[in-house]
Amino acid sequence: MKKTKETTGKIKMKNTIVEIDGDEMTRVMWAIVKEKLLFPFLDMNLEYYDLGLKKRDETDDNITMEAAHAIKKYGVGVKCATITPNKDRIKEYNLKKEWPSPNGTIRAVLDGTVFRSPILAKNIPPGVRNWTKPIHIGRHAYGDVYKNQEIRVPGAGKAELMFTPADGGQPITQTIHEFKGSGIIQGIHNTDKSISSFAKACFTYALDQKVPLWFAVKDTISKIYDARFRQIFQEEYEKNWMEKYKEAGIEYFFTLIDDAVARIMKSEGGMLWACKNYDGDVMSDMLGSAYGSLAMMTSVLVSPDGYFEYEAAHGTVQKHYYKYLKGEKTSSNPMALIFAWTGALKKRGELDNTPELIDFAHKLEGASLETIQNGIMTGDLLRVAIPDPKNKQVYTEEFIDAIADYLKKKL
Ligand code: NAP
Ligand code: MG
Repeated sequence: MKKTKETTGKIKMKNTIVEIDGDEMTRVMWAIVKEKLLFPFLDMNLEYYDLGLKKRDETDDNITMEAAHAIKKYGVGVKCATITPNKDRIKEYNLKKEWPSPNGTIRAVLDGTVFRSPILAKNIPPGVRNWTKPIHIGRHAYGDVYKNQEIRVPGAGKAELMFTPADGGQPITQTIHEFKGSGIIQGIHNTDKSISSFAKACFTYALDQKVPLWFAVKDTISKIYDARFRQIFQEEYEKNWMEKYKEAGIEYFFTLIDDAVARIMKSEGGMLWACKNYDGDVMSDMLGSAYGSLAMMTSVLVSPDGYFEYEAAHGTVQKHYYKYLKGEKTSSNPMALIFAWTGALKKRGELDNTPELIDFAHKLEGASLETIQNGIMTGDLLRVAIPDPKNKQVYTEEFIDAIADYLKKKL
């Protein structure tokens, strides 16, 4: 793939970040962020993969696999939002087929857990008053209802659950239900290996952030399935983390999922909440909207083998892009994209021992927050900001220019 390199008087990046470009409005903002907030200050070392839908179609989606493997090679990647095609997109882009979600493909290669955290600005109050600290979510990204098999039961009959051992042993069978009439059944699974790597990723992330780890399931009802999750977390904690957590002054806290939800609502935040796949799907959207805007969330995929992929948690902001194509100006929020870059820069700096890169990333984050806190904001934020006469809505590029001005003052 194409290597981009720029030199002279800038902060040097030692090793490579895998840059994964995307689609629509986020692709437009991605380019501006690089041009105005990164290239002028950094001597970047990037390996570029274009995951724009057109390119994925041209390469029969091989480009997505290549990008995922590049992250394995270099350890750190940063990804723009991408279109997951549906029937409409097939027509719009004249696609060969309905290519799978790039995030799904990359997750399958890296075997990861997705961590999301809100970006807090002083004048964007959370919908829940007492949430003064960020609530981080760790979502298990494998199995359960996302890899289910379902049957629409047409009428009376017996539904059974059966496992046939590969070694020729006796099958294990259980009756699910004796149907008197029509209904539905569903089969879901998970593996010890995946749950265990989910647990490891969460314990690692919480220690890294120096925040307590909360985990919750419904093992009072699901005495084997959910109970297995709880058991694996407990064993992992006792075996590998108890001492380290004590030293760091943080705790591992287990409770029932309904109790966890009730406690989270009353808490001040400041924990990592490890969620099973479905809980994480639902709860991260609730947190995203409660913290103000989809664009005020960071998202990172952490693999148990130590690979990191930073991304924007929102989509490609399609509606804004159609306006942009008509030549209209948009007020789209690039914060999640900027923080994806700063996340990757900080990780690169940490792995390569280049504190000046970490320092730059902090300053860029600071400049972005200062811009918002001084009342310069995009439309999504103005709607939820604490009212102030100095608040003003600006266009996407003006917002990025304002950040660049604050950044220059800090450097
Ligand atoms: P979306 O791009 O997240 O946008 C939904 C709405 O949220 C927007 O219309 C906008 O509201 C608001 N919004 C989201 N991000 C914003 C930002 N940065 N600045 C300002 N407002 C923002 O979701 P979508 O329109 O449903 O999906 C579009 C495409 O994104 C789909 O093709 C989907 O496949 C893809 N997608 C990709 C990812 C990913 O790669 N991570 C994730 C989800 C979806 P207003 O219109 O009210 O301004
Ligand atoms: Mg969701």
